[in-house]
Amino acid sequence: MWDAHCHVDDRRFEETREAVLERAWLSGVEGMIVAGVEPEGWARQRALALRERGRIVVTYGVHPWVVSRSGEREWRRMIGQLEGALRQGRQEGIAVGVGEIGMDHSRRVGEDSWVAQESAFREQLAIARALDWPVVLHGVQAHAQILSILRRDGIPASGGMVHAFSGSFEVAKSYTALGLSISFGGGVMQPQARKVRYAAKMLDAKWLLCETDAPDMLPAPLVGQMVWNEPANLRFVLAELAFLRGVTLQDLEAQTVENTKRLFSLCKSER
Ligand SMILES: [Zn+2]
Repeated sequence: MWDAHCHVDDRRFEETREAVLERAWLSGVEGMIVAGVEPEGWARQRALALRERGRIVVTYGVHPWVVSRSGEREWRRMIGQLEGALRQGRQEGIAVGVGEIGMDHSRRVGEDSWVAQESAFREQLAIARALDWPVVLHGVQAHAQILSILRRDGIPASGGMVHAFSGSFEVAKSYTALGLSISFGGGVMQPQARKVRYAAKMLDAKWLLCETDAPDMLPAPLVGQMVWNEPANLRFVLAELAFLRGVTLQDLEAQTVENTKRLFSLCKSER
């Protein structure tokens, strides 16, 4: 299994990180893509990826939540550091994409940040296009806006993924028509998430990825058993996806690993 999107660098894992990683490897996770949210975390991601070469690769970006809580000077300064970090990460053989970037129009973030979110998203998208690296997109209640920006500005030829997909099958098809993969997380395990479950069932297998988004998105059946989600829980997401699609766990695992490696050129960056 490859966890296509998680945050094992997160401060919430400060005390438990080694055990969390050990449980991931023991559960059958071969590797994970650790997505960036802000420069302070990029340094922690880098240290982990250098240590766990081949098993942990990273993407760097400035998350829309970080943009929404920062002043304009601050988020522009962060984005100013992005290209240098990406180039260094590529040289080190650990960075494979740009993200997470995108837009979030949920109640979690203030409406007054929407304009800043859009600017930050478009600037980072432009960097990804210039470098031709895959993008890792965060989109919550903003799929129409994100799709219209992607169509207007363009996406990198190397594509990208929509992480923790929360939309309908129609929305998923709009993304795949642009060449973007769709990643499902613990959200598919919620029985009431009918739209997302239908999208997970119907999506063409070549676009399918799976993730934990750990420490967030703890699958509903595990609430009460643990506080934070972790990559070892990927097997539950994978099992649910296999059930929804009526395929064997082994086939789904092979397919999603292949999709992840292809999208992020992981065979090429392995040393
Ligand atoms: Zn994330």
